[in-house]
Amino acid sequence: MIISGSLAECKNTAKEPDIKKSSFSNCTITSTPDEVGDISIYTLYSGSGGNCIYVRYGNDAILIDCGSSARAVKRSLSLLGADISLVRGIFVTHEHQDHVAALDVLCRHHHLPIHITSESEEALYGKMFTMHDYTITHTPYYTETVGKMTIRSFPTPHDSVMSVGYTIEFEGKDIRFGIATDIGHISDEIISSLTGCTHVIIEANHDISMLKYGPYPAWLKRRILSPYGHLSNDDCGTLACTLVDGGARSILLAHLSEENNRPDIAVRTVSEALARASFDTSEISLAAANAHTPTRLI
Ligand SMILES: [Zn+2]
Ligand SMILES: [Zn+2]
Repeated sequence: MIISGSLAECKNTAKEPDIKKSSFSNCTITSTPDEVGDISIYTLYSGSGGNCIYVRYGNDAILIDCGSSARAVKRSLSLLGADISLVRGIFVTHEHQDHVAALDVLCRHHHLPIHITSESEEALYGKMFTMHDYTITHTPYYTETVGKMTIRSFPTPHDSVMSVGYTIEFEGKDIRFGIATDIGHISDEIISSLTGCTHVIIEANHDISMLKYGPYPAWLKRRILSPYGHLSNDDCGTLACTLVDGGARSILLAHLSEENNRPDIAVRTVSEALARASFDTSEISLAAANAHTPTRLI
């Protein structure tokens, strides 16, 4: 098992570090520099306090979601040595605040297009009126091209008016990225969309016992555990097995609850599920995304 490490990223002509080291375990390698080239994928921060993912290929980058604040996005990008000027657009998964809180300010200041489903846009319209001019609405299944990246959406099961995940293909590369967080259960669309992805960010929201015996009120526990709430570590382990079987070799666990989970528990639960399914875990990179600081997938 491996985990991501360095935050170093040079602007534009970045050379990625040769190796990614684990903070959890006996690490080995993930992708080689030749495979990765000038692709970078990081969670800038992850969890109920805010979610934002940075994906760059060459001189073009996108953000997936934009929670927390514009200041937090810029601070995180500066930690990577990256710059907002490379960002060509923001792709929104759904309208919950932990995914959109920075949209208004960031888009007004930097004139960034927002790609969002019509349903989520309608839910936000009025609350975030000033961002409306920059919004490009879509159906839950849409495809956009940004530079040499092809971005495709697919619907995910969550208690928002609409929720999607994304896959990204990188022209000329054998790397395919997929992301699905805020998922109450493992739907057919998630499996069909993420199968074949080499690098994935998937939700490991809670440890079921920590949630059940934790401080949350009963209604909130029911919401999180529902088929349209959030994915447990156990279910994430099941999903990870399916995706590794389909070709995934690097997995970043995301949207961890700070109350009802811990990074080491999430990683151990998923790692044990992979081992039980007889996968060679020395070949698989597995990490948990930091709540407030960037974590590298590629
Ligand atoms: Zn949500
Ligand atoms: Zn969320």
